[in-house]
Amino acid sequence: MQGCGSSRQAAKPVTRLDFELEATAAGSRARAAHFRTLHNEVLTPTFMPVGTHATVRAQSREDLLASGAQVLLANTYHLLLRPGVEIFEKFGGIHRFMNWPRAVLTDSGGFQIFSLPGSRTLREEGAEFTSYVDRTTIHLSPERSIATQKAIGADIMMVLDQCVPSTVERGVAREAMELTLRWAHRSLAARGDSPQALFGIVQGASYDDLRVESARAVAQMPFDGFAIGGLAVGESAAQREECTALVTEHLPEDRPRYLMGVGTTRDLIEAVHRGVDMFDCILPTALAKQGVAFTSLGRRDLRRAAYRGMEGPIDPACDCYTCKTFSIAYLFHLNRVRETLGWQLLGRHNIHFYMQLMRRMREHILAGTWLEFYHAQREVLDARDRYGRAPTHITKAQRFKLSMQLGRFEVTVRDGIGHIRDRISGEVMHPVSDPSQEAHRLYVEQPRLIERLNAADEASNGAPLVVWDVGLGAAANAMAAIHAIESQAGVIGAPPGASAAPCAERRRLTLVSFENDLDALNLALRHPRWFRHLHHAAPRQLLAQGRWESRTGIDWRLLHGHFAVRKTDAPPPDIIFFDPFSYKTDRELWTLAMFRDLADLCANKAVELFTYSYSTSVRAAMLAAGFFVAKGMGTGPKAETTIALSPCAAALPHRRELLGREWLGKWRRSDAQIPFGASPRDDSWRETVSAHPQFQ
Ligand SMILES: [Zn+2]
Repeated sequence: MQGCGSSRQAAKPVTRLDFELEATAAGSRARAAHFRTLHNEVLTPTFMPVGTHATVRAQSREDLLASGAQVLLANTYHLLLRPGVEIFEKFGGIHRFMNWPRAVLTDSGGFQIFSLPGSRTLREEGAEFTSYVDRTTIHLSPERSIATQKAIGADIMMVLDQCVPSTVERGVAREAMELTLRWAHRSLAARGDSPQALFGIVQGASYDDLRVESARAVAQMPFDGFAIGGLAVGESAAQREECTALVTEHLPEDRPRYLMGVGTTRDLIEAVHRGVDMFDCILPTALAKQGVAFTSLGRRDLRRAAYRGMEGPIDPACDCYTCKTFSIAYLFHLNRVRETLGWQLLGRHNIHFYMQLMRRMREHILAGTWLEFYHAQREVLDARDRYGRAPTHITKAQRFKLSMQLGRFEVTVRDGIGHIRDRISGEVMHPVSDPSQEAHRLYVEQPRLIERLNAADEASNGAPLVVWDVGLGAAANAMAAIHAIESQAGVIGAPPGASAAPCAERRRLTLVSFENDLDALNLALRHPRWFRHLHHAAPRQLLAQGRWESRTGIDWRLLHGHFAVRKTDAPPPDIIFFDPFSYKTDRELWTLAMFRDLADLCANKAVELFTYSYSTSVRAAMLAAGFFVAKGMGTGPKAETTIALSPCAAALPHRRELLGREWLGKWRRSDAQIPFGASPRDDSWRETVSAHPQFQ
């Protein structure tokens, strides 16, 4: 026996998938890996949308491809009945039949035989059931299941198993588990030398010893991967998670693990944490049909009247077509009138959200940041939809904690000063000790805002000074500007001795704030004692009416929505406060494409952009987009920040300290050389940065 064991260890496993493990997260069993099917490479962890009848319900092929789906799941039981094996034989398989270029996994039919209503009998030989299509009797043996899956042309086939509810009594569970093992041997023999991969299935209901016995036995067989079956059929989430952890412990490291039919976004992250690589579930499209979306804020249920008139996308952090194009109110309406488009759009978002979540899990496992990500996400994912609902039956402490949270944000208080924290990324707005002071230094003092307003010269020709405030957040920057102007104009509350310039001589200010998620400001306004800069009528009026005007010549406007879309609705800027969350949270705002758009908008105007970031990638993106880039003043722990100047601004006399050749040398040696979002296929930015006139 010992000799046999050691030779098994030395031999490379028989596998058709070339599975390669890339990383296992520290303090977790979460793994990142890849394998090759007959059609494409699959990066794990991955989610497989369910295409029961060779179509994912209400989703187009193009949308599925765009979502990044790498494997589709199809259903042997249903496809056997309709269209029937002969159609697949005629078309040479499902890929050509549905024109799907990537991998397909077929389940064996076991789950449907044992879960769908209708008569069936079970023998050692196989199962016999009545077709729901034409009432004929169908025999499905392990051999017939494999023959059907071969004809369908699946990249990955599943063994026929006897699937019992996880709550059945022990004797039934043992018999089903043992029958499944005998069928597994027959399935392997039936597969023969076909290049199609075949997965074994672990059964055993909710009995730990049966699960372990099943896992050990299946793991001895030369399968290309292993599935955990019989879950998501009646057990609690905690039981499911325990069972998953127990089974993965007994499965080999060197082949993929697939948790069948699971689950919600939270189930997925819990199972990845316990070492699972692959998932399928109908929930993204099934719940979309009912009007439910999975979002970065938890579930959103569009059957709830609270959403009837709500503006903004269903998920402010999502960049799918649905979120980029439609408001919640519109999706609510489509769902209420039962229009198919509503189902389709929500399904598209849900699948995109699932695929994006899997990609983010993979990135964090590879980057060594899995545990932080896992702990931050598991509270948020699949959280109950409480939007617009008063919390009930909760303690005072819980009520306080809830009052400190809104959407994806929460308030943290340090030394009596409130800060807004993004609960998803953990990032804090203005993380320095006093946000108002930092806002004043970076965005009022540095742009010389007051001097520029006081110097109303002929050149301005009576036009207002236009300031863009990108990332309103809790309005620290906008209010720093407003407070500075009002105190200078001698409005009540100004410090004694402040000189008042008559309004008529001063240039007017158009302040345009861009924000796609107003929860941060709403949350800060609920806690005025910690956000003293909001002790003013302006922010509430801005939220209520989208605009606030003052007799000191300030016209403050709110453009709600994605900056990429809304920026063309604003007059061209003279000054930009560029203060969104960083790249890891607000990705699209820091990309080369975004700075190119901005440079185009600022092409014929002297514009200065101020931002807290001094990242090499951000500066490279600005330079590549055509801006001149200068050092900005330091703040808190940062030795410097960044100022971008449009070519017209750089040509005027200015006192900015442009980055010199020394920075260029540093950039060339840096591993942050590539501007965020730059295409790997087009590196023209490299030449543009090197040959930039500011270094000549
Ligand atoms: Zn979306």
